[in-house]
Amino acid sequence: MTAPQRAADPTTVRVDLAGRAYDIVIGRNLLGELGERMRGLRPGAAAAVVTDRNVAGHHLAAAVRAIEAAGARCAQIVVAPGEASKRFATLEQVCDAVLDAHIERGDLVVALGGGVVGDLAGFAAAIVRRGLDFVQVPTTLLAQVDSSVGGKTGINSRHGKNLLGAFHQPVLVLADTALLDTLPPRQFRAGYAEVAKYGLINDEGFFAWLEANWRDVFGGGAAREHAIAVSCRAKAGIVARDEREWGERALLNLGHTFGHAFEAAAGFSDRLLHGEAVALGMTLAFAFSARLGFAPAADAERMRHHLEAVGLPTRVAQVSGPWPGVDGLMDLMLQDKKVRRGRLTLILARGIGQSFVAPDANAAEVRAFLAETLAAA
Ligand code: NAD
Repeated sequence: MTAPQRAADPTTVRVDLAGRAYDIVIGRNLLGELGERMRGLRPGAAAAVVTDRNVAGHHLAAAVRAIEAAGARCAQIVVAPGEASKRFATLEQVCDAVLDAHIERGDLVVALGGGVVGDLAGFAAAIVRRGLDFVQVPTTLLAQVDSSVGGKTGINSRHGKNLLGAFHQPVLVLADTALLDTLPPRQFRAGYAEVAKYGLINDEGFFAWLEANWRDVFGGGAAREHAIAVSCRAKAGIVARDEREWGERALLNLGHTFGHAFEAAAGFSDRLLHGEAVALGMTLAFAFSARLGFAPAADAERMRHHLEAVGLPTRVAQVSGPWPGVDGLMDLMLQDKKVRRGRLTLILARGIGQSFVAPDANAAEVRAFLAETLAAA
């Protein structure tokens, strides 16, 4: 494991996609450089910044100042916060506002916000004028380590989450870790589940580093930047090797299929945030792996202990009920978009840092495991 960077040094992680490679720049107090960095990439381009009301209250003025200081015209588009904005009506509103602002091919859409804004603005950028370039300025931990990287954009349908969308890679991701200082602690914790995920997938050394340093990650400073940089490097590597998720990229879904069932049962509400569902789901995936004899029980216990230490839910009983019965949860798991032709693909583990794709998981075994999990709740 490399030593953490000094807080003053931005770290650049390259996402290596032929013809569409881009940088993720990670560091503290980078927002003031946004305009200059955009000008470096697209001299003379105008910008439309898409954000939500919460983020606007904290960071929009500084973003607009940075863009205008570099001499660019800058429109502002503010949507309501929350998952409900990932829908057609808001997409239409954003697309119209981008067109109203005379943003043309060669100009830039800037997504300033969490995963909701990134997915929504990115999808608008993918379809307005058949594709505008866009910049991600992620403002949640989840967005800085996960959703802003990799080019998945989209909205929800009444048939399910993220069912309408496009792969559309940004031209730059600017992850200013100071923007996370205004994030509610619960949201920060939820994003941390995705950080821990990278250790659990294939980097036991990083997981051990997190066990020792998680308090500093929450506190800010160099440890936070290091954790974000390692996470982005991990995701960038996987995305570069498997952009469209035909194979390895599925590993990023560790905890997501079990978690999705509970997240959906909770109605994608504040009862269980996405990252919290991932924490619960990863714990279940490890417990299930141990039950099947793939992973040592000690590893399943160790990862549960760490997630519990940071305050993430790892037991169903820790999340307020009610929950559907086992049939309902199985139905919800089977609706997850990771299911292909009715087959349940799970991400399981042989230990910490040794996750693998298990296509065709045995539904009867999953069902028995879920029944026990619910009985214990
Ligand atoms: P979010 O965007 O809803 O943000 C969470 C809350 O924090 C919101 O209320 C927001 O207004 C507020 N907020 C954001 N930044 C803030 C800041 N700096 N200070 C204060 N408040 C701030 O949620 P999220 O967890 O960032 O993202 C979840 C979304 O991401 C889901 O829709 C999920 O489907 C999507 N996602 C996408 C990908 C992908 O690859 N595209 C990956 C994972 C998740």
